[in-house]
Amino acid sequence: MKNVFALVEHRQDKIRDISYELLTKGQELATLYGGELTALLLGNELTKFIDSLKPYAHRIMIVEDAKLKDFNAESYQIVLSNILKQEQDFLLLMGHTASGMDLGASLSVELGASIATDCTGIEIENDNIIAIRQMYEGKLLAKVNLNIKAKSIITIREGSFPPQVSNLSAKVLDFTSPLTAEPSYRRFVEYIEAPLGEVDITKSDIIIGIGRGIKEKENLLLVEELAKTIGGIVGCSRPIVDAGWLPKDRQVGSSGKTVKPKLYIAIGISGAFQHISGMKGAETIIAINKDPNAPIFSEADYGIVDDLFKVVPILKNKLTAMKA
Ligand SMILES: Cc1cc2nc3c(=O)[nH]c(=O)nc-3n(C[C@H](O)[C@H](O)[C@H](O)COP(=O)(O)OP(=O)(O)OC[C@H]3O[C@@H](n4cnc5c(N)ncnc54)[C@H](O)[C@@H]3O)c2cc1C
Repeated sequence: MKNVFALVEHRQDKIRDISYELLTKGQELATLYGGELTALLLGNELTKFIDSLKPYAHRIMIVEDAKLKDFNAESYQIVLSNILKQEQDFLLLMGHTASGMDLGASLSVELGASIATDCTGIEIENDNIIAIRQMYEGKLLAKVNLNIKAKSIITIREGSFPPQVSNLSAKVLDFTSPLTAEPSYRRFVEYIEAPLGEVDITKSDIIIGIGRGIKEKENLLLVEELAKTIGGIVGCSRPIVDAGWLPKDRQVGSSGKTVKPKLYIAIGISGAFQHISGMKGAETIIAINKDPNAPIFSEADYGIVDDLFKVVPILKNKLTAMKA
């Protein structure tokens, strides 16, 4: 593998955070092998994105076409396969996002490339790229060997590599779009924004995340009191929303909100990756769980292994006393 490619994701005129994560990791891998990192940027009216991408890559390959204005896996596949079939071997990094999931498998078949999906880490060992994937909700890590001298695609779970701006100054290259017609079997219809809820948890500096450990809806009061004491907002894991105990706009995770508060207190939450992906960007994470092996403790800065019904009232009383 000499060259690494990273697919830049953008939506409604904004580059998505995952793109910077892919570029950060991609640069590290390319440097390791004396190759170059190319950011692949497909779309329409792309000039506005170039300055923010330049420091992250050696090259930015641009494919401008009005037919690429909104993501469409069919069109993207045609363009990417045209670019990559010219390469002997390569590593393509894509987000394990709605778009990446839509595109990755079918592109790998067309290119005859190996693919490892939903990865949270990449290591290089001798002649292998080792892609790391979680199994059984994060209880096991699987290492997938991809031959470094072959064509490989890895889709990366959001939040896996903290983005770090570099001091590169990418060369901008144009690639002529091979698209001759609109996509034949799928088309973009419209973006539908999620309705705004009564509370926007993404704006809060302190979030108390509550999970199934709370057991009954009535017990939420306990957590709401704690939140009030420290000026926070109550968020939750998905089972709490599924049970109808809190509205959907309080759900944190891959199918809920992504939050980056100063403090996230996870109470009675096991730490499934779908939850973690939504809150791992918090500055400080405190977990309260009676199971010492709960995966949430791997993400937490501080952990309390005990019964939440014992810990939360003590915490609330201490904080109230401190405030007084
Ligand atoms: C496609 C898909 C998308 C998903 N999206 C999301 C998402 O966006 N957000 C999300 O959260 N989940 C999501 N999930 C669900 C996710 O896989 C988990 O099932 C969920 O996060 C588990 O929630 P939990 O931690 O509250 O419950 P559990 O996994 O049941 O954990 C409860 C925890 O409470 C602890 N506990 C129990 N009693 C006490 C007590 N008295 N004191 C202290 N601790 C106690 C237990 O030890 C346990 O660790 C998704 C799943 C799928 C398949």
